[in-house]
Amino acid sequence: MEDMILMQNVWKAYPNGVMALNGVDLSVKQGEFVYVVGQSGAGKSTFIKMIFRELKPTKGKIFINHKNIATLKDRQVPYFRRKIGVVFQDFRLLPKMTVYENVAFALEVIEEHPRLIKKRVMEVLDLVGLKHKMRSFPDQLSGGEQQRVSIARSICNRPPVLIADEPTGNLDPETSWQIMDVFTRINDQGTTIVMATHNREIVNKLKHRVIALEGGMIVRDEEEGDYGYEA
Ligand code: ADP
Repeated sequence: MEDMILMQNVWKAYPNGVMALNGVDLSVKQGEFVYVVGQSGAGKSTFIKMIFRELKPTKGKIFINHKNIATLKDRQVPYFRRKIGVVFQDFRLLPKMTVYENVAFALEVIEEHPRLIKKRVMEVLDLVGLKHKMRSFPDQLSGGEQQRVSIARSICNRPPVLIADEPTGNLDPETSWQIMDVFTRINDQGTTIVMATHNREIVNKLKHRVIALEGGMIVRDEEEGDYGYEA
């Protein structure tokens, strides 16, 4: 299988001198599902932000789909981001837009054809099980429903890679499992998923590759790994 994400000797120093990543080497193949675990401050968010070029490495190379994004010019970043879906803990929906409009907006900004937009929005709302709520506004939805809208928005452009930073961090256990069902469906369609999480139960029950970070280094990388840290 092809490398979808390839990191070579990636370092990240913040302006205050904190070394958040210390020489990370990693290959994630097309279609893989990877959990990123580690204690607070281990470097998970920094690692995740590198993949969608929210941050540039201080040193090293990051290839997404064979393109080195460490050397991308700032003006090339929006185009690159079309290839990456991103989901956050706090949903980040636009409050004055309906569910339909929130998802459609992601396609409008990249100037997709209006007919294709409608078809695609309905497809992804169907995939996340929220077609019946397409006219609702975010504040009329539960947290789990808002996260499903956010996931629909992140995949409506069919990105090969989906990145999620603590996507179940604000949700109760049952709702978290519903979100994992949605990620499983997306992964089954061939999308590579990288998910930073503190959710021990999910990592231990829904088995995938586990990468553990400590002090900005990969200290463990296991197929079907465990969460591993003490509660
Ligand atoms: P995690 O997501 O695992 O909690 P982070 O990637 O947020 O870890 O943080 C890794 C290290 O980098 C920590 O020591 C943190 O304090 C530091 N850090 C994170 N963001 C910044 C920033 N913007 N400026 C300075 N230091 C930061």
